Amino acid sequence: MKNLFFVFLLISNTVFAQINFDDYFLSKTLRFDYSRAGNSDTSYIFFEQIKEEPFWGGSKVNLTDTFNFGDYRIMLYDSTGTKLLYSRGYSTLFREWKDTEEAKHTPLSYYESVVMPFPKQKVILKLQDRDKKNVFHTVFEYVINPKSYFIVKDKYNKYETERLHGKRDAAIALDIVVLPEGYTEAEMPKFRKDVQRFIKYFFKVKPFKQNKKKVNFWMVKAASEESGTDIPGDNVWRNTILNTHFYTFDTERYLTTRDVNKIRNLAAYVPYDQIYILVNTSKYGGGGIYNYYNLCTADNEYAEQVFTHEFGHAFAALADEYPYGYTDAEELYDMTVEPWQVNITNLVDFESKWKNMVDKDTPIPTPDTEEYRNKVGVFEGAGYVHKRIYRPVHDCKMRSNVTKEFCPVCLKTVKQMLNFYTK
Ligand SMILES: [Zn+2]
Repeated sequence: MKNLFFVFLLISNTVFAQINFDDYFLSKTLRFDYSRAGNSDTSYIFFEQIKEEPFWGGSKVNLTDTFNFGDYRIMLYDSTGTKLLYSRGYSTLFREWKDTEEAKHTPLSYYESVVMPFPKQKVILKLQDRDKKNVFHTVFEYVINPKSYFIVKDKYNKYETERLHGKRDAAIALDIVVLPEGYTEAEMPKFRKDVQRFIKYFFKVKPFKQNKKKVNFWMVKAASEESGTDIPGDNVWRNTILNTHFYTFDTERYLTTRDVNKIRNLAAYVPYDQIYILVNTSKYGGGGIYNYYNLCTADNEYAEQVFTHEFGHAFAALADEYPYGYTDAEELYDMTVEPWQVNITNLVDFESKWKNMVDKDTPIPTPDTEEYRNKVGVFEGAGYVHKRIYRPVHDCKMRSNVTKEFCPVCLKTVKQMLNFYTK
C-alpha cells in the first residue's frame, strides 16, 4: 500500500504541477550533449558539453511531460532535487541499434543531445532509461550551473534563415525547422521550393489541416559540398553537411545520420520544437525518432506520404503499424507488460490503450476482413512483428502509403500533442 501511495504521489506531481516559467527560466535554450556507448545488454553515458543557444521554441506553460512516451527521459530539478521543473521523453538511434545483430558483438558509441529552457539558477539534470518493465531509472546525474564559464556560447550568424509559414509566437506554436541535406549552394532555391511543397503536403493531413495557424515552418540555408546523400549499398558517397546515409542497420530505405551535434548546431539558428532533415535525392526512404529528428527524401514519388508518416514517429512517438522482420512478439517485446507506444498492444493491459474506442460487437482480436475494414479493432501484425502485437485499424498512415490519414487512435494522440505544444 505504501508503495502504491508513493507512486500515486509521484504521478500526480509529474502530471499536474507545472511551474511558472519566468520564476526558473530565461527564454533561450540550454543544450546538454553526451555520448551513449554500449552494446545490446548495457550502456553508459559520457558527458560531452553544455551549450547556450539563442532561442527557446517550446511551450512556457507545458514544461512537465504528461505523455510518458519514449525509451528515455530527462528530468530537470531545482538545486534541492525535490521540485521538478522540466521533463521530456525521447528515443534515439542507439536504442534501435541495441536490437541489431551488431550490438551483440561490437560495442558502439552514439552522440546524443537534449534541450531544455535555460535555467536562472543551479539545477540538477537526471537522464533516465526505461527498463523492460516500463519503469524509468536514473542512469546519469549532473549539476548544471548556468553561470559556469564553460558553457559554450557560439555565434549563429553563418547561415541565412527564413520563416516559410506561420506567424505565431514560438512559445505557443509548433515550430518545425527544416534543415537542407545534400543541397549545394546553387541548389538553395530548389531547397526553398521543396520545403514549400512539403508544407503543402503537411497541411493536407488531419489534424494539421485544421490547425494551420498553430504551426511555424522555418528553414536554415546551410549548403553541402556535394548534392545527394550516401548510399553504401551502391557505393555512392557524398560530402554533405549532415552526413546522412541510407542502409541504416543494413536496411536500404532506412535513412539516418549519427551527426546529432551538427544537426543541433544548425537547428539552433531558429526557435524549434521538431527537426526535419530534407534530403536532396529521389530515392525512397526516411526515418523518424521521437523527439530526436525526422528525415525524408525530397523527390521520391511517395515523399508526400513519407513526410507525415515519419512525423508521426518523431512528434507523437507513434509505432509502425506493420510487421517487419520478426515472427513472434517475444523476439522484440516483454510480453508481461504493455508496450509503451499508444498505437500498438499485446493485449496485456488493453484497457490502458484504445479499448474504449472499439465497438461492443467488434471481436478482439479482430478478423482482417471486409466487414471490419473501416472499424477500430485489434488487428494482428504491427510494431515489426507478425504475431501477438496488434494495431487499431486495417490501415493507417503508420502502416502503409496507401491511406493518407492517421487512424483514429493515432489522430487522437497527434491532436493531444499539438495541443500540448501550442499552449
Ligand atoms: Zn494508426
